[in-house]
Amino acid sequence: MDNKKHIVRVAPSPTGMLHIGTLRTMYFNWLIANQNDDSKLILRIDDTDLSRSMDSMIKPIYDTIGVYGLHYDITFKQSDNFATYKMFADKLVLDGYADYDDGAIRLTNTFGYDVNMNLDWKDTITGDKKCTPDVFAAASTQVIIKSDGSPTYNFASAIDDMTHGVTWVVRGTDHIVNTFKQIIFYRLFDKPIPLHSHVGLLCDISTGKKYSKRDSDLLDLSKYNVDAVLNFILRLGWSPTKDDKSNNIIPRDKAIKMFLADGKMRAPNCKVDLNKLDWYNKKYNGFNI
Ligand code: GLU
Repeated sequence: MDNKKHIVRVAPSPTGMLHIGTLRTMYFNWLIANQNDDSKLILRIDDTDLSRSMDSMIKPIYDTIGVYGLHYDITFKQSDNFATYKMFADKLVLDGYADYDDGAIRLTNTFGYDVNMNLDWKDTITGDKKCTPDVFAAASTQVIIKSDGSPTYNFASAIDDMTHGVTWVVRGTDHIVNTFKQIIFYRLFDKPIPLHSHVGLLCDISTGKKYSKRDSDLLDLSKYNVDAVLNFILRLGWSPTKDDKSNNIIPRDKAIKMFLADGKMRAPNCKVDLNKLDWYNKKYNGFNI
């Protein structure tokens, strides 16, 4: 997989500051995009949710990404693309796969099971995902354009991934359920389905609970060495094949070489151990510990 051309993307929502989980996902995608010169990273601002997105959060997201030196090849925000999503929705209406419903547009399950609509997919980390009748029913009747004219997350994501030729979607396990709802659009528009890898979510070391936005807000990464942070987040959901002392320190150049060839992304949730971050911080700041 290292030598293939990968088109990957990361899609932060500007509902708050860029938090550690998104930075982790961004770093993983960046490492994949840096496997070779042909691969590309798309940074997409997921601001379709008009009630939760804040314009004022967009610049801080770019600023944070800049601090970590994670360059991208293409960037755009979804709110600039509403006309495109509407055009794709109109096509589905025209083809009889969607219809107007109280000002919204939703898929209509008239095509049913009998047209080989297979929504099964395979996660590169956790394997086969089978679509149940309930999941199929939800996917095949989902709203795609809301009555305020904005597209839903699943529709906009799938359209953007499809039109940009994304080959590999890497994101948190919280999106496994959404994947069925996105794959239906690849089927309806007859486009190749990208690889999907869902990595474990970050969780609190003492309670084991999923990291909340509040936990992330309380964690001020700006006081740590940038490379220490990257080394720390690398180990949240990825481990080297040879997980011993020789691989304690993996700066970004080494991480690019090892990410696909000598390690694996993982699905179990990852405990955020700030003592480890302190340890990396000391190491990268030149302390001999
Ligand atoms: N805005 C979503 C998130 O931050 C993006 C999910 C995706 O990568 O499709 O979780």
